[in-house]
Amino acid sequence: MAEFGSVFIPKMALATFENNQWTEAEIVDSDSIQLHPGAHVLHYSSTCFEGLKAFKHQDGSVHIFRMDQNIARLAQSSRLLSLPNINEKQVSKMIIDIVTRYASDVPDAPGAMYIRPTHIGTEAAIGKASSPTVSSMLYVLLSPVGDYFANGARALTLLLDEDGQRCAPHMGMVKSGGNYASALTPTLKAKKESHADQVLFCPNGYITESAAANFLLIDGNEIITKGLDSSFLHGVTRSSILTIAADMGMKVSERELSIVELLERSEKHNTEAILSGTAAVVTSVGSLIHKGCSFKIGSGEIGPVATELRQRLNDIQWGKAQDKHNWLTQVA
Ligand SMILES: *Cc1c(COP(=O)(O)O)cnc(C)c1O
Repeated sequence: MAEFGSVFIPKMALATFENNQWTEAEIVDSDSIQLHPGAHVLHYSSTCFEGLKAFKHQDGSVHIFRMDQNIARLAQSSRLLSLPNINEKQVSKMIIDIVTRYASDVPDAPGAMYIRPTHIGTEAAIGKASSPTVSSMLYVLLSPVGDYFANGARALTLLLDEDGQRCAPHMGMVKSGGNYASALTPTLKAKKESHADQVLFCPNGYITESAAANFLLIDGNEIITKGLDSSFLHGVTRSSILTIAADMGMKVSERELSIVELLERSEKHNTEAILSGTAAVVTSVGSLIHKGCSFKIGSGEIGPVATELRQRLNDIQWGKAQDKHNWLTQVA
């Protein structure tokens, strides 16, 4: 099986912002765009993206999961980066059009069609280091993906990093390229020197998130995760899991979680922790490394609550459970 996100559908939807307005969206080849080497995005990182999925149900119908949330976040990212405002209705139509066109290429469960809307500043103007691009391009790429856990799921090890941070704090809720480049050096260092899978960024001793996923702690009937603020990415999966947890009768606590509290709660045998994000949905965390010492979270294995949360979310996505929160948009 090809690596996640390395296979692309040959066409994509594309619209450009020129002369203060959006052009009509077109379907174009997905392996070539025209971009000046002096384009704003290539020098000053005026770029943001989204990641969402379309799922094929057993009856062959195709449904996009929580598209409105991703479009709203793309609009927010664009605003916070001083890119042109997106036209949310147009983006919604672009996503629906391209997914509908390639509905027969949406893989069966446990695969999905990963959808990657991307917005970049295209003005050729290298003098604009401190002013916004006047033109931009928005495209919607599609990538059919297989089972994320085809090689088997295992509980991850996270390095707790108190000294660094994933990105500049005011950029945390922007889904933008530079933030990932910023998290790469500490993540590679943690893999190499601590044999960790990921870094959990904990500036000032408080948990935020990893390079590309949110962190949630499960202690008995309570699920604890950082409350929304501008320092981290507001995951759609995070929000969906909290809703499902509440539906299951769990207590949902959105608040600050310190390393001290995390390590203390991890000692209990039934504590679990997860990372959440669209690509993998739910990944269990089995151990933590802090100041050179290793700590197990509960049993250190994939736990029953993590398994149930992921199953319930997958069941909604694949049409096996009632979509009572209206999260799905049927396109084919
Ligand atoms: C995309 C992303 C997430 C997860 O968001 P979802 O909407 O659940 O996919 C979490 N953290 C970061 C930094 C991300 O880029």
